[in-house]
Amino acid sequence: MARYTGSVCKLCRRERTKLFLKGARCESSKCAIERKPYPPGEHGKGRVRETQYLIQLREKQKARRIYGVLEKQFRRYYAEAARSKGITGETLLQILESRLDNVVYRAHFAESRSQARQLVSHGHFRINGRRVTVPSLRVRPGDVITMREASKEMLVVQHAVDTSRRTTSDWLEVELSARKITVTRLPSRAQIDTQVQEQLIVELYSK
Ligand code: SF4
Repeated sequence: MARYTGSVCKLCRRERTKLFLKGARCESSKCAIERKPYPPGEHGKGRVRETQYLIQLREKQKARRIYGVLEKQFRRYYAEAARSKGITGETLLQILESRLDNVVYRAHFAESRSQARQLVSHGHFRINGRRVTVPSLRVRPGDVITMREASKEMLVVQHAVDTSRRTTSDWLEVELSARKITVTRLPSRAQIDTQVQEQLIVELYSK
């Protein structure tokens, strides 16, 4: 299972915006964007000519990085969204939102999507009673996600629940103390608060 292992704060600095990849640190004064609000590298402070292609590319990279998806997988998601009947950009975001690691993060059981990914791959969650270890698994309306009995008291989960200041996504029914999530429906664009202009991604891939 390939994944990015470099500095995640550099990704935020590259996109010149907070991508909230590190949980509580992102809200603190230690956030790298607060201290170095320019792209990383020797030429980070230099001027860059903002072409339309660059703007589209950055938007795609931003979405990919927020959800922790590598290029190949992201392209596959786009191809699936383009094949589907709905609006391509909206469907793409819906696909990304329905990943199990994102659902665990949205339900406040993890501080960040990467932490959620780790919890899932270590087998702490079940979907409809079946143990799962694949973070990219996609949930469907009606699915019930629960934590393994022995994992419910995990400090890292309790800490995430106690400190989360995010609002709960209204397409999920979350019972925090029971560590239970019910997927009531897939989210519409209005229910997804990810700061991404998906139309730019569609324009990039449609070239
Ligand atoms: Fe991004 Fe969080 Fe690092 Fe700030 S602390 S740069 S928001 S990952």
